[in-house]
Formats: sequence, structure tokens, C-alpha cells
Amino acid sequence: MEKRVLVLNLDHSPVAVVPVQKAIVLCLLEKANVLSTYELLKIRTVDRSFEYPAVIRLTHYKNIPFRGVLLNRNNLFKRDNGECQYCGSKRHLTIDHIIPKSKGGKTNWTNLITACNRCNVNKGDKTPEQAGLILKSEPFKPSLSYFLAEYAERQAEEWLPFLSSRIMNS
Ligand SMILES: [Zn+2]
Repeated sequence: MEKRVLVLNLDHSPVAVVPVQKAIVLCLLEKANVLSTYELLKIRTVDRSFEYPAVIRLTHYKNIPFRGVLLNRNNLFKRDNGECQYCGSKRHLTIDHIIPKSKGGKTNWTNLITACNRCNVNKGDKTPEQAGLILKSEPFKPSLSYFLAEYAERQAEEWLPFLSSRIMNS
């Protein structure tokens, strides 16, 4: 499986995650340097093999405005560990407005949670209290660093030394 590459700014703050082809192009153009590689992987062409970058750093500081994590189905399921936040089921997942839209509930990170179809239907147009449901965890707005750390733990341990506690808490 193809691994992703973490891109750091000149000051070592994470700015992006890119496919390996893009990372190699950035390095060939001397726009970035390799800081860490995936040891067990190599990139092979017809007559050569290259180190497989895991973390690269831009050679020039890039002023990149903060981008929040996109609010969409996938990211919401990821934040909630793919579990219904009422009963813990991992099946037939959908998205629930904690405070229903009809009662003025907003479509944002703190009013949306992952719910299974059954809990969603049982809850209907009620608030969790009215429906007798208790949330397993408080919904929060995730940061880019939160997702990076999460990905690193599952797929890219090589990133961990570059995700400092300062960054992970932001
Ligand atoms: Zn449920």
C-alpha cells in the first residue's frame, strides 16, 4: 500500500500530507528536503531505487493560512472512531444532529455526531435528554494535528518524532 508523506514548513510545523510522487517532485526541484524515510520501503524505477520519504521539510517558509479540518461524513466518523455515540454500534452509521435542526440545532462539529440508524430513528425529532439517550463523549472540533497524530499512530510511526506535544495540543 502506498504511504503518505508529511510536509513540514521551514519552522517544522506540519502543513500538508501529500502522495509520495508529489513529495519526490518537491525534493527534485529542491523545494523540500527529506527528514525521515520509511526504512522498509523503496521506490524503484527501471534502473534505480530511491529512499521512500516519510517526512519532508520545505526549503522556504510558506505562509499558509490555517485550514480547519473539513466537516464531512468521513472526518466526522473518524473523529467518533466509527462508533454510534449513543450505543457504540459500528454498523449502519449515519449522522445525527444532537439538537435537531427543527429546534434550531446547527450543522457544525459540536452539534453533529456519528449515530447508528436505529438510534437515529429512535431519537427522531427529540433532544438526547428527551429521548433518554446519553452521549458517549463530548463532540469537539478536531485540529489538523489531531488527524495527523491519529494517522501517524496507525500508519506512519516515522512521523511521530516530528509531531511535537506543542503541535499535538494545538
Ligand atoms: Zn446506536
